[in-house]
Amino acid sequence: PAGGTIQPERWPAPAWPLPPDPALEARVDALLATMTLEEKVGQIVQGDTSSLTPEDVRKYRLGSVLAGGGSDPGGKYNAAPAQWLAQADAFYEASMDTRGGGKAIPILYGIDAVHGQSNVVGATVFPHNIGLGATRNPDLIREIGRITAIETRTTGMEWAFAPTVAVPRDDRWGRSYEGYSEDPRLVASYAGAMVEGLQGKVGDRAFLDGAHVVSSVKHYLGDGGTADGKDQGDTQVDEAELRDVHNAGYPPAIAAGAQAVMISFSSYRGVKLAGHKPLITDVLKGRMNFGGFVVTDWNAHGQVAGCDNTHCPATVNAGVDLVMAPDSWKPFYESTLAAAKAGTIPLARLDDAVRRLLRVKFRLGLFDAGKPSQRKFGGKFELLGAPEHRAIARQAVRESLVLLKNQRGVLPLDPKKKLLVAGDGADSMAKQSGGWTLTWQGTGTTRADFPNGETIWEGLKAAVQAAGGSAELALDGRYRIKPDAAIVVIGENPYAEFQGDLPTLLYKPGDDSERELIGKLRADGIPVVTVFLSGRPLWVNREINASDAFVAAWLPGGEGGGIADVLLRRPDERIGYDFKGKLGYSSPRSADQYANNVGQKNYRPQFPYGYGLTYASKGDLAPLPETAGVSLAQAQPGQYYGLGMLAPGLSLTLQAGDQRAVGIKTLPAALDDGSIRIAAVDHRRQEDARRVTWSGSAPARLSLLADATKDLTREANGDVQLLLALRVDTPPKGEVAMSLACGEGCGA
Ligand code: BGC
Repeated sequence: PAGGTIQPERWPAPAWPLPPDPALEARVDALLATMTLEEKVGQIVQGDTSSLTPEDVRKYRLGSVLAGGGSDPGGKYNAAPAQWLAQADAFYEASMDTRGGGKAIPILYGIDAVHGQSNVVGATVFPHNIGLGATRNPDLIREIGRITAIETRTTGMEWAFAPTVAVPRDDRWGRSYEGYSEDPRLVASYAGAMVEGLQGKVGDRAFLDGAHVVSSVKHYLGDGGTADGKDQGDTQVDEAELRDVHNAGYPPAIAAGAQAVMISFSSYRGVKLAGHKPLITDVLKGRMNFGGFVVTDWNAHGQVAGCDNTHCPATVNAGVDLVMAPDSWKPFYESTLAAAKAGTIPLARLDDAVRRLLRVKFRLGLFDAGKPSQRKFGGKFELLGAPEHRAIARQAVRESLVLLKNQRGVLPLDPKKKLLVAGDGADSMAKQSGGWTLTWQGTGTTRADFPNGETIWEGLKAAVQAAGGSAELALDGRYRIKPDAAIVVIGENPYAEFQGDLPTLLYKPGDDSERELIGKLRADGIPVVTVFLSGRPLWVNREINASDAFVAAWLPGGEGGGIADVLLRRPDERIGYDFKGKLGYSSPRSADQYANNVGQKNYRPQFPYGYGLTYASKGDLAPLPETAGVSLAQAQPGQYYGLGMLAPGLSLTLQAGDQRAVGIKTLPAALDDGSIRIAAVDHRRQEDARRVTWSGSAPARLSLLADATKDLTREANGDVQLLLALRVDTPPKGEVAMSLACGEGCGA
């Protein structure tokens, strides 16, 4: 049935660690009794700082604001910390202003402090969760939460939208890096630690004090389980898998006293989570004893059946306590007020939502805290990127690195020698930090926006210089003085949410330039260590084969020096850092092995979950298989199989047996039966954006491809990302491989 069959009694029942507190309840009741319906509705609405003013907060008595990715008090991404704090003060003061006759209820200000307070210039930027998963170190996770809370407090917010406890099961998902692991057990072992780091430990005096923030565990539920790894898609797993895999992080987070849970954009069996009453009310609040408040995601209520951004009683009735209506807060407030007046939203439900929010505000001590700048850490900007905070981030980088190959013990490298550093990731804070870093997508920033960080190159240079060696940076690998060894840093460019969804796990389709760079250096007799930056495991067998050593560095964040710590060591030095990282995500054996997870039947990864060499282990590797192609024999009828992003000069090759078609002027006869269609696809929607080429049984004429590609590339430069893809209606008999080559002008 739509929404699945949910049997709450079969779900875990963690204990909520905060026993009923009569004094607190008395304060909540007393305040609630004085509130008008308008004020109650105001409490359950959250607007974005880019779409409302303090005056709006005062007038509508709104309960909460957020600064979503890229919403910045300066209107750009690089506002000064003092501007953030002044803005937080202004919203707080508006909420405490009773001149309009309203009750003074302090506003709760939330932000995506998801890898440090990474929204603010100068903050410590920790590795993204995928890297933290590789450390297998819950104590470190707790420490990162503690520091994130302090740095967030310096800029005036008291709520972090973290941690993400998604269990990503299809690595094409653009949010895979926000999850710790594909393994629910690892996610479960981290969830409570991060909540405790952010909020403090229940029972300690410091719990939710001015050094801590509210944690919201997200995104409930099944965000990492959507079909085809599509962001905001539909999770279709059965109830047992939803509970045992995707829910794994919630019971420990609840047991640690998480004060908020954020609802996923996705749906479960066709019903949007933001309207899924059995999962929110019966399971989360009922069976799992969650005693905090439930918040929706950015306009997610607008996706609930029968709703739009301005109107959605169903989300409140499903059990949501605070509605993130970032830019639609005003019409949403009005329609919700009307629904409350009409009884469409029962008063008891509204009161319950307000109670849950007020409890958290009381627990935080917000009523007596004064404005954000007057609180314990408000304005202590010297703590943003403080040396002791950066040291923890650097430790996290060191522990997150996974060594996949170390042929003939090329690593560690001697820092006394001549080192070449190359690749477009070598000197890029944006690339090593990924999405949710100063901007939503993590793009568009400059080196100057990271006054406290170090690029990988800068870290290597400092270490080499300290040891008396020499280092040269040449991103394109064209060295001036012949080096003894090279470190080539390559990988994905930043992305966030659906913009990062991929059609296959093939790294850089149609672009051989990086492998050529590595090959050229090795042809010159220079050993090459490749450092790979990525937000998910990708199919990189060719890059691994091309290199002497290969390190998966994930998205390490601001402390690039952590890489030098592990990669360099003088031969006479006994003490040094070794690799500690172990894969938290299985590596794919082929580009179409998207959903290959530990514990599954037919688990056949390239590198299994938990893999990770050390200097003590033997790192030699027989050549890995290099067929990147998607096997069409296993294709699902009607599904699209991606080949690569469109770029000028791309050419496609299909091979069936020993028949081969390059540029597809003609198709191999084996395929010439109308069963294969070549299309340009909007890969985010997995729909035909435009059929460019050939479909039908006539010999294909894909000289069209070259022309059509020009047009499409123009479109691809706009908002839509176009992908060259095949759709297979009847799986062909026998093995069929397809591949892309990049000609003149291609590779952008
Ligand atoms: C994301 C959330 C985030 C929220 C607020 C949404 O688009 O899905 O993870 O917390 O925006 O910025």
